[in-house]
Amino acid sequence: MHKHEALFALATLGMAVLPSSSPAPATAHTDAPLRIIVFGAHPDDCELVAGGVAAKWAALGHKFKCVAVTNGDIGHATTAGGPLAQRRRAEALAAAKILGIETEVLDNHDGELMVTLENRRRIARLIREWQADVVISHRPNDYHPDHRYTGVLVMDAAYMVQVPFFDPDVPPLRRNPVFLFSEDRFQKPNPFSGDIVVAIDDVIEKKLAVVEAMESQFYEGGCCDVPAGGLPQDVAGKAARKREVRDAFSRRFASTADRFRARLAARYGEQRASTIKYAEAFEICEYGRQPDEAEIRRLFPFFP
Ligand SMILES: [Zn+2]
Repeated sequence: MHKHEALFALATLGMAVLPSSSPAPATAHTDAPLRIIVFGAHPDDCELVAGGVAAKWAALGHKFKCVAVTNGDIGHATTAGGPLAQRRRAEALAAAKILGIETEVLDNHDGELMVTLENRRRIARLIREWQADVVISHRPNDYHPDHRYTGVLVMDAAYMVQVPFFDPDVPPLRRNPVFLFSEDRFQKPNPFSGDIVVAIDDVIEKKLAVVEAMESQFYEGGCCDVPAGGLPQDVAGKAARKREVRDAFSRRFASTADRFRARLAARYGEQRASTIKYAEAFEICEYGRQPDEAEIRRLFPFFP
């Protein structure tokens, strides 16, 4: 975690934070690993929307990074500030270990993220440094200001990542990445479209282990979902609470498969799709490179 803090300090000072090797060439027609970066507003958002595909990409040798754009330092009912931010960072690192991916938590206060030029530069740099093929973020009509502004910041960076004299300390990308939105349930101005839906049954135990590892968020109920009567103190009560959280998230991850059953059928065939229990879904953003079917299959090497 100190490494990330050091990188953050360097970036804040305006110094170039470059990957150890020079920028890789575009990976369009090579066997180089795919490089995916996901921005979530808080330490848990990336993992909830893309923890399954993260584990699947990682298992195939591809490179996946989660970035929490704020540090989660007010997301709890009874604790806040530095100690909570440290807990959240430790939980994000534990999740990354389970999934086999990289993770970074930016030191912005939870609930205070703003669409600033500094933050646009920051996001653009992270996308460039990761040499991303795919970038995933919230839609900019999400309910939480940090989610909305994370979405806007990523959208604002979508074109700028390839403009050479925007933040010229970090080399521009030669190819614009594919930008995707992570799933949400908001209906206005338009519902999430679920263009790419991936079965995650084979990695669901890892995803549920991540939920379990992010104790301050889920077991403890975060800021606003503390169980009535408080957290249990006895062994049986604790086990029951653990089961309750696991069941709730199992249902949540299953609801994506139910919501997009027809999309799953188109990818996996009717028969197999009818047996898929868990899924993750992504919408193709109009900004960035527009993938055709062949490229979707190259970027998501999971379909039969
Ligand atoms: Zn969030």
